[in-house]
Amino acid sequence: TSSPTTPKSSNYHTLFLSTSLSSNVSISNHLQALTHSPHIASSEANSQAANYVLKVFTSSNVPSHMASYHVLLSYPLSRSLLLTTTPQEPPFSFSLKQEPYKGDPYAAVSGEVVPTFHAYAKSGTAEGPVVYVNYGRVEDYLSLRKKMGVNVSGCVVLARYGKIFRGDIVKNAYDEGAVGVVVYSDRKDYGGGDDDGGRWFPDSKWLPPSGVQVGSVYQGTGDPSTPGWASSGGDGECERLTKEEVEKEGDVPLIPSLPVSGADGEKILRSIGGPVAEHDWQGSKDAPTYRVGPGPGILNLTFKGQENIASIQNVIGVIEGAEEPDRYVILGNHRDAWTFGAVDPNSGTAALLEIAQRFGKLQKQGWKPRRTIILCNWDAEEYGLIGSTEWVEENRELLASRAVAYLNSDCAVGGAGFNAMATPQLDELIKKATQQVTDPDNSSQSLYEAWTSSGTSPLIGRLGGGGSDYKPFVQHVGIPSIDLAFGGDTADYPVYHSLYDDFIWMQKFGDPMFHRHVAAASVWGLVALWLADEEFLPFDYQSYAKELQLNVKNLEDEISNKDINLSPILKSIKELEKAAIKINDQRKEIEASKGWRTWKEYQMKVRDVNDRLMMAERAFTDRDGLLGMTWHKHLIYGPTKNNDYGSQSFPGIGDAVRVAKNLQTAESWHRVQHEVWRVSRVIKHASLVLIGQL
Ligand code: GLU
Ligand code: ZN
Ligand code: ZN
Repeated sequence: TSSPTTPKSSNYHTLFLSTSLSSNVSISNHLQALTHSPHIASSEANSQAANYVLKVFTSSNVPSHMASYHVLLSYPLSRSLLLTTTPQEPPFSFSLKQEPYKGDPYAAVSGEVVPTFHAYAKSGTAEGPVVYVNYGRVEDYLSLRKKMGVNVSGCVVLARYGKIFRGDIVKNAYDEGAVGVVVYSDRKDYGGGDDDGGRWFPDSKWLPPSGVQVGSVYQGTGDPSTPGWASSGGDGECERLTKEEVEKEGDVPLIPSLPVSGADGEKILRSIGGPVAEHDWQGSKDAPTYRVGPGPGILNLTFKGQENIASIQNVIGVIEGAEEPDRYVILGNHRDAWTFGAVDPNSGTAALLEIAQRFGKLQKQGWKPRRTIILCNWDAEEYGLIGSTEWVEENRELLASRAVAYLNSDCAVGGAGFNAMATPQLDELIKKATQQVTDPDNSSQSLYEAWTSSGTSPLIGRLGGGGSDYKPFVQHVGIPSIDLAFGGDTADYPVYHSLYDDFIWMQKFGDPMFHRHVAAASVWGLVALWLADEEFLPFDYQSYAKELQLNVKNLEDEISNKDINLSPILKSIKELEKAAIKINDQRKEIEASKGWRTWKEYQMKVRDVNDRLMMAERAFTDRDGLLGMTWHKHLIYGPTKNNDYGSQSFPGIGDAVRVAKNLQTAESWHRVQHEVWRVSRVIKHASLVLIGQL
């Protein structure tokens, strides 16, 4: 009573990892081809890159198509930044240009790089005395007000990049009353600091003094003009918000902002007097002493942007499942880049193409996946996860009923050291996969050994926040998901979103031998193969329950109010744990019945267990979503309030607790209890799904 592909599938999985199928040379060639020109969303170069991806998919026996959308994108028309230090002298005008480097083979096309800007920044002029606000976090403004007596109202703030999503840097500044925002890359964080300062790309990995981090300051997810629904059909064929309505949604910034280089940031810092900033706010040893202001330097910032409806293209490749074609294992990575995109995102694209080619070779050897595998190459991620979100919004019902898992990799390689984030039922699978793959930096050990001895804690992070294309899958639909990468921290990859994120940087510093790329493709593809081929979905909900228990412990510490009763959650977690054990037992019983049941009866039993394993994550979502952010349906994981890159568990409870601690009213604490009940209900729903009985 075994299915046609089951006996051999593990042989194919071994073959998938073998050196006869993998090739660092071919990955490197893909990366070089994808990054020969700058390819921002909706550019001709990005459309050529889409054709390249489509061709590699198709020639690997992966039937593919383009999924196009018309979406609202933003471009810079003009920018200027003036600094007045003394009324006697004319203001200094910054050039806002990134310098091509010595021997730059891409110098001829560097003019195609979009001028440095913040996508969706408010058009207009802002002028005022400068205040230095460190990383622009809520707590930084708190220190400014409480410890230094500085208020930024009416000022232009100067923030350094590094700790939070840049959209929140602008939002926090607006909330504090600032009229404009300049964000720079401090050389302590991006330039080698005190250890390796004074050397930069191409002589070291560090960001050159003129290097600028471009990026979006949009707070929403997906096309701003179609919030919650797909921008499908041709231009003008779907409902679309007007410019005024987009502003009313509250996700586009209401004050202008500009990113600038480390050198420009330092020049502005020299114009700031007033109290000396605290120790943690200072720069490198040889940098000037940072003061907070306000002024006397006065900044005049002008940004004029243009917002257009433009066409974007996702490339979608489908390997149809032989036995369960209506079950989807989805791999995704974006293609659009602010500049050349060697790390972000095309290291991931090159790995995805390698996977497609290895799958093509497996198919030649006779392999057919049990379930359907979908390879996705997203567009306009950089603007606000737009390509993936529109696709998810368009296909929401099909995905909700058929998607087994979504496996993302964005910056697949930005240095050394393996990193993973996941929803907890996939933790064990990732660990198992890294045990099968060789450490690309030390072939005498497994990737698992390298990873677990690196001291990373917790080993696997959670996917609550934004930052890449897993967000619509997890937050909007509740699909078990993974995100994988090598390196990628600021110190690994300081040229992030700058002119210098090119193939030469990757060759010299990111992954000279392209072995990390090979390993990324191996782990990513192996997890996909297991999810696609194993008879029973390899999901472990016991580890989900354990993790939830830990989260409640943390919540207990956070909630000081003794009147809040957390026992509904604890009770529902107990039920979830029991249900997780029960479904594992059922699985064993069914496996034992293989000998005596008819093949069809057996397959129906397997399918029933798998459907419950697949749908349990969906149960963590709630139709009403999070308060004030209703597109976010997941009640277990969500973004942190003032940093969209951050992840928090029980986001609805966390936010209600912060409000209640502030207001200390009976009503606000009552809301905390309401959020506790909501979470306990979704956990209960998940256990009912796992048990599968009314
Ligand atoms: N990955 C992009 C960034 O970090 C977009 C993130 C987002 O919009 O959530 O800038
Ligand atoms: Zn990216
Ligand atoms: Zn990016």
